[in-house]
Amino acid sequence: MMEQEDLKFDRNHIWHPYTSMQNPLPCYKVNCCKGVYLELEDSRRLIDGMSSWWSAIHGYNHPALNQAITSQLSRMSHVMFGGITHQPAIDLTRKVLSLLPANFESIFYADSGSVAVEVALKMAIQYWQNSAYPQKNRFVTIRRGYHGDTTGAMSVTDPDSGMHYLFKDFLPAHYFVPRPKSRFDSAYIQDDTAELEELLAQQHQVLAAVILEPIVQGAGGMWFYSPEYLNRVRQLCDKYHILLIFDEIATGFGRTGRLFAFEHTAVTPDILCIGKALTGGYLTLAATITSRRIAEQIGTLMHGPTFMANPLATATAIASIKLLLASDWQSKIANIEKVLQRELRPAAKNDLVKDVRVLGAIGVIETRLPVNLVKIQEYYVNNGVWIRPFGNLIYLMPPYIITEDELTQLCQVLSNSLRPEFFID
Ligand code: PMP
Repeated sequence: MMEQEDLKFDRNHIWHPYTSMQNPLPCYKVNCCKGVYLELEDSRRLIDGMSSWWSAIHGYNHPALNQAITSQLSRMSHVMFGGITHQPAIDLTRKVLSLLPANFESIFYADSGSVAVEVALKMAIQYWQNSAYPQKNRFVTIRRGYHGDTTGAMSVTDPDSGMHYLFKDFLPAHYFVPRPKSRFDSAYIQDDTAELEELLAQQHQVLAAVILEPIVQGAGGMWFYSPEYLNRVRQLCDKYHILLIFDEIATGFGRTGRLFAFEHTAVTPDILCIGKALTGGYLTLAATITSRRIAEQIGTLMHGPTFMANPLATATAIASIKLLLASDWQSKIANIEKVLQRELRPAAKNDLVKDVRVLGAIGVIETRLPVNLVKIQEYYVNNGVWIRPFGNLIYLMPPYIITEDELTQLCQVLSNSLRPEFFID
């Protein structure tokens, strides 16, 4: 009874992501989470296929992460970062920089992925301002990308196909080129950067940076593209004096089988954004990282979120990275990839399915028709799994601790949901 009332109250008063107040999508009330399971109020347990949007890589309620957060809590949960520093921020910085190529030396902590992207854009513009090229203040990106929901981040998210098209006239106008056609698992298509090159040749005087999600385009289309594309983009950026920003907020910390997705190539960006799995999905924390040379050129950066480098978040992030590095994460991801391939590939024969893609611990089924989210979600919950599709994309990115049996079950429920009744014709 109380549960019904709470859900009704929630429905009437709380805005959930990507839905309305007058006709909201239904919500399921989660009571607690442990390992790879979400437990609902009515005690049903769901195998988590989403890692809470790419973040909970170690699963939920992990003793090591709980320990890190509680021991930090007894010292301080937060303190301003202006004029003050603290051990978790220093230790996390040492740890994060040790994972990256040596030229990454300067880190800016943000309180969400979108803000890390805003900071990256500001860094790029300011770099050119201070290099006597103030007209270089536009960005280029590829269509079907996604970089967050704040204004600057929305402006580099595809205005036509993306979820922010309503704001098209309000946002600063940047440049978009087609997304790479070259698949991750196929040969590189030689002219894939042709439009980008043409644009850079014409507009390089006004271009500050190219911003990309390396290898995996996430929320804009769950598309995996060729590492060779990144090699070419790096060459073009060097040729035309344009900075390169990689948004690894979704892909960082092992998800694609490499610690960072750009490690599928030999190239590195000038500015890197990380977030999501940085704290193992415990608390909101992100970072924008660049080289000493670029940082010096930028000078004073007028940005300073209230919860910058939050001690609880940074302490948890240290524990999460240690946990990841101490585990045999490469084998875990390789095993997840094997099971995803084995279980999802056969769906390619289904008439409803347009494409099946698997990379690392990400499995994607692109369907011909959009899902009926309410119906398919109910089916998943009734069958003991948590999968949250959008549009034509049903995808899995489970916590790395998932067992083969749990993953097989997750995939089988997904495969069984590929029936006309769950799609909008
Ligand atoms: N960049 C990418 C690639 C993302 O996937 C997301 C979040 N889905 C963001 C940026 C924004 O991060 P946040 O939701 O933490 O603001």
